[in-house]
Amino acid sequence: MTQDAGTARQRLSVADLEAWVRRSAELITEHAEELTDLDAAIGDADHGANMKRGLAAAVDTVGAGGFTAADALLKKVGTTLVSTVGGASGPLYGTFFLRTGSALAGQAGSDGLDAQTLADGLEAGVGGIAARGRATAGEKTMLDAWSPALEALRTHPDDLAAGVAAAARAAAEGRDATKPMVATKGRASYLGERSAGHIDPGAASTALLLAALDDVVAARTV
Ligand code: ADP
Ligand code: MG
Repeated sequence: MTQDAGTARQRLSVADLEAWVRRSAELITEHAEELTDLDAAIGDADHGANMKRGLAAAVDTVGAGGFTAADALLKKVGTTLVSTVGGASGPLYGTFFLRTGSALAGQAGSDGLDAQTLADGLEAGVGGIAARGRATAGEKTMLDAWSPALEALRTHPDDLAAGVAAAARAAAEGRDATKPMVATKGRASYLGERSAGHIDPGAASTALLLAALDDVVAARTV
């Protein structure tokens, strides 16, 4: 591998971010029924449909985009999700992408994002979810997948592929760990103790978004 290829491997380009959105849409579509079933158990059975609609709109947005900067692309994905996903998760995922984009303003350039810059951006996005949802980890929400994912990414500051792979694994573990939790935020909290015993649908969709990012990074040839 040449020096240039090695450097590129440690960075996430705008094209990679576009590929992330596309792969996310594929995985969400494949698993939409599963997400809806999870939401049927502790919510109102719309999470799969909500996410599928939102990601399809996001794919249209990036396809039409001609984006040259990560921040512009992510912010546009955010506004698209806010206006198309609906439910509680629309504003939350929308805020995530908007805040991540804002945090990365001016950082992306043509070089792309390295693991640390990506982690800084995602941290701002996850902070946006926590602020908007007035939630913290342990309340049986998507934050229970995002928080461990971010932590895992931070353990590989110099290795993007290892960090993203670890983040995807941590998100899946975080998703599974929501099963015994009692929800104290969102619609599932109306069920109180009866929310225990079911995986949180938002944590499941978050795990899919991180699996999509891992797929994109792992599949790159440079
Ligand atoms: P709704 O609950 O309005 O039907 P969705 O079904 O699309 O919306 O999304 C539900 C998911 O949103 C939950 O599984 C949870 O992960 C997430 N969620 C709901 N409320 C909050 C909150 N206050 N903070 C963080 N995440 C939340
Ligand atoms: Mg719902």
